[in-house]
Amino acid sequence: MSQGNPPRRPGFPARLPSLANAQPAPVRPATAPGSVTASGWGLDSAAVRQRMVQRLAAGGIQSPLVLQAMGQVQRHGFVDSALVTQAYEDTSLPIGWQQTISKPSVVARMVELLLGAPAAKAQGLGRVLEIGTGCGYQAAVLSMVAREVYSIERLRNLHEKARSNLRPLRLANVHLLLGDGMLGYPRGGPYAGIISAAGGQALPTAWLEQLAVGGRLVAPMVQENGQQMLLVVERHEQGFTESVLEAVHFVPLKSGVA
Ligand code: SAH
Repeated sequence: MSQGNPPRRPGFPARLPSLANAQPAPVRPATAPGSVTASGWGLDSAAVRQRMVQRLAAGGIQSPLVLQAMGQVQRHGFVDSALVTQAYEDTSLPIGWQQTISKPSVVARMVELLLGAPAAKAQGLGRVLEIGTGCGYQAAVLSMVAREVYSIERLRNLHEKARSNLRPLRLANVHLLLGDGMLGYPRGGPYAGIISAAGGQALPTAWLEQLAVGGRLVAPMVQENGQQMLLVVERHEQGFTESVLEAVHFVPLKSGVA
């Protein structure tokens, strides 16, 4: 729970136990649209999130699993308190150390692409490797649709931030690792899905090696014309197939740990 630092995450689940004492909800004074009281968020955010889910569905996300996961994970618990009112808008937000949490529509799109892998369609999504834990939001979403999630972050500060953001959720299938994601994480593989939240110039060979047959890799990658595009690579018995999808804007993939 967020007892350690409540002001940073207003209304995160820590508030709920006190509400469980069956007190009727206090009637809040009228406030300006979009302004919420700290204690109001834990309860009101479900409705706000549902509206976000409706927008995702209207925008083309079809997987019920993905929509359900997006409706469940409290994105406002992963951003600083000053940004909480923007948490359910379709926008990327700063998470410190010059990094950003991806837009909900991009998270949903990439996770849906992972679920489209032949192996995932046949038997559900198995082990997933995420490169770029950031604040931990996407790892939480992945934990709802995959059996195991290994998430690597190269910045110690963000790795620690994700740890404290995710601790209250007690997601037993999420494994946070500090390291250079360009090397993948062979011990957790082979992976049914590999998803990168940072865009590189070329696909690290470690990712291809650690991708399971029937699995999919979804990553932003800079193309020859300098434009960053979303790439989907599928591994088959005979080799790999690659599709280049829409343009995206991700922070750069960097090597080494800092
Ligand atoms: N999925 C994240 C988005 C984080 S932004 C979220 O939900 O918040 C992308 C992250 O990738 C940044 O935190 C950046 O530090 C990290 N990153 C960049 N290159 C990396 C690498 N080689 N290994 C691991 N993480 C990397």
